[in-house]
Amino acid sequence: MKIAVLPGDGIGTEIVAEALKVLKALELDLTLETALVGGAAFEAHGHPLPGSTLKLAMESDAVLFGAVGDWKYDKLDRPLRPEQAILGLRKNMGLFANFRPAICYKQLTDASSLKPELVAGLDILIIRELTGDIYFGQPRGRRIATDGHFPGSEEAFDTMRYSRPEIERIAHVAFQAAQKRDKRVTSVDKANVLETFQLWKDVVSEIGLQYPDVALDHMYVDNAAMQLVKAPKKFDVVVTGNMFGDILSDAAAMLTGSIGMLPSASLNAKNQGLYEPSHGSAPDIAGKGVANPLATILSAAMMLRFSLNQPEAAARIERAVDAVLNQGLRTPDIYSDGTTKVGTREMGDAVVKALD
Ligand code: NAD
Repeated sequence: MKIAVLPGDGIGTEIVAEALKVLKALELDLTLETALVGGAAFEAHGHPLPGSTLKLAMESDAVLFGAVGDWKYDKLDRPLRPEQAILGLRKNMGLFANFRPAICYKQLTDASSLKPELVAGLDILIIRELTGDIYFGQPRGRRIATDGHFPGSEEAFDTMRYSRPEIERIAHVAFQAAQKRDKRVTSVDKANVLETFQLWKDVVSEIGLQYPDVALDHMYVDNAAMQLVKAPKKFDVVVTGNMFGDILSDAAAMLTGSIGMLPSASLNAKNQGLYEPSHGSAPDIAGKGVANPLATILSAAMMLRFSLNQPEAAARIERAVDAVLNQGLRTPDIYSDGTTKVGTREMGDAVVKALD
């Protein structure tokens, strides 16, 4: 089994190092090959996703990804910005299904921004379509407006679009995921305003008929944002488009206490996947040794389960993370009175030690 390891920028290198420690401690038969991506690759090769990195990713069973980006690249032309590397990997590998679990560990209910009773036991799965929607729709660009409210002035435009097969395949993923959980799917749309999401709603409803054991409901995205912070435990699986999923999954992340705890997986039709923490490169804390590595370590666990067919090894990692939280070890982002503050490396070492 071959894994492409792409640490990236900022805290990416620090947290991936800890995930690698844990993977190596499992003593599985894994080939780990590291390559540059993001700003680091731009510095070395003039491109955030060099051909050699893309080739390695495409040839691997899975990609373990850290994070990319830094404010200093914000002035580069868009195709050269670090974040384009992720879009390029998603597009070339056909990673259309993004799984973002939001689980509130019982040990961390105090770290949530919501009252403990609202989040204790929270376990929702947000499934975001990843290769369509307004992020990829053409045409897009800038031009001089010929109509609208201010003809003759500069305007920018993007195109929101989804095709029936794109919606069908993500709907199947959501219903099948729900069958392994609490058998409930909430499809989030904006069908009251957008044609694209009226088609979304119609197609998800049609696919839902093939899964009579799963309860389906529909919610407008504005209401979903409200419900996520009002009564998040009401949800089981949430399925939505690229942009709404981007926003809602970050909101859901905060419910759990810290974005530093949340793994994610992006899969294609062959179960080849890219596994990364839900957060970015956190330039504000990079190099300080304080980043929480648990989201990346838990992403490695998801990788073992979804792409490498090693569910027992995945469960060992998850039990070890639970154990270090029980020991009271906390990186600063999840620290509260009465617990023990540790840095990135100490947290990684503790997980290795806790592997049963
Ligand atoms: P961010 O997720 O990097 O950081 C948001 C906040 O969360 C910061 O205060 C940060 O310190 C904190 N944080 C994030 N991860 C943490 C961790 N593991 N432990 C402790 N605290 C953590 O988002 P941002 O600040 O909006 O973006 C920073 C850079 O990351 C930008 O260049 C952005 O484009 C990029 N980005 C990359 C990805 C990715 O690589 N997938 C995702 C989002 C943002």
